[in-house]
Amino acid sequence: MPFFRFPKKRNQAHRKSALRWQSHEVQITRKTMKSIRLRVRDNGELALSCPHGITDHEIIRFLDARSGWVEQQLQRVMAANHSKAEQNNARQVSLWGKAFCIEVRPAIKTPFEIDQQNATIFIRTPIQHQQEIALLHQKIWRGALQKYMEQALPRWQDKMGVHTKFSGIRNMKTKWGSCNVTRHRIWLNVQLAQYPRSCAEMVLVHELVHLLEASHNKRFYQLMDHFLPDWRHADQILKTQVMSV
Ligand SMILES: [Zn+2]
Repeated sequence: MPFFRFPKKRNQAHRKSALRWQSHEVQITRKTMKSIRLRVRDNGELALSCPHGITDHEIIRFLDARSGWVEQQLQRVMAANHSKAEQNNARQVSLWGKAFCIEVRPAIKTPFEIDQQNATIFIRTPIQHQQEIALLHQKIWRGALQKYMEQALPRWQDKMGVHTKFSGIRNMKTKWGSCNVTRHRIWLNVQLAQYPRSCAEMVLVHELVHLLEASHNKRFYQLMDHFLPDWRHADQILKTQVMSV
């Protein structure tokens, strides 16, 4: 006859929930354990596990008593993530929506060389400082966007029947592009070269449409739909960033 032994105490399942504490969302797991454990994850999330009987109120009290420690841990995590991002920037750069590796090859003749096929950018000497890295990224983007503008601008001007007196590229903090309708000048943000080409195209067409319609009114969007029916797709990609057109 088979012998069945039942556990003395049935393990209760893990119960997951979340609660707001200060500006944080705390992930809570209630399970069979004796004490409360709090962890600050690498992504800055707070994770707490505790016995089943502990109430949310008790958890808040527990957290309040440890707010100094949490702050310290969050700062440590943020510093680690920041330096990880810096190291990453020195090793790779996004160009037209694709990640390119940055590699050192002292023999190259220009400050940098782009190998499209292998998605690699060669530089002569290693770079480490944040400023140097940012400068390199901007040089790469500027060159790529310049090349794109040289062929796309005349094509779109012809198609739309507009004419610019000046077009340029610059690094902007709050806008993807701008247009001075009286002076017929347009600017594109150098950072556009990070995203798929359709994004630079959308901003270019947007600024050129301003030469036909200065404000963002119904006619403006009708013209956008007419010239670039798929513009909303690229707009959506850029909207996940923090700048506007
Ligand atoms: Zn606009």
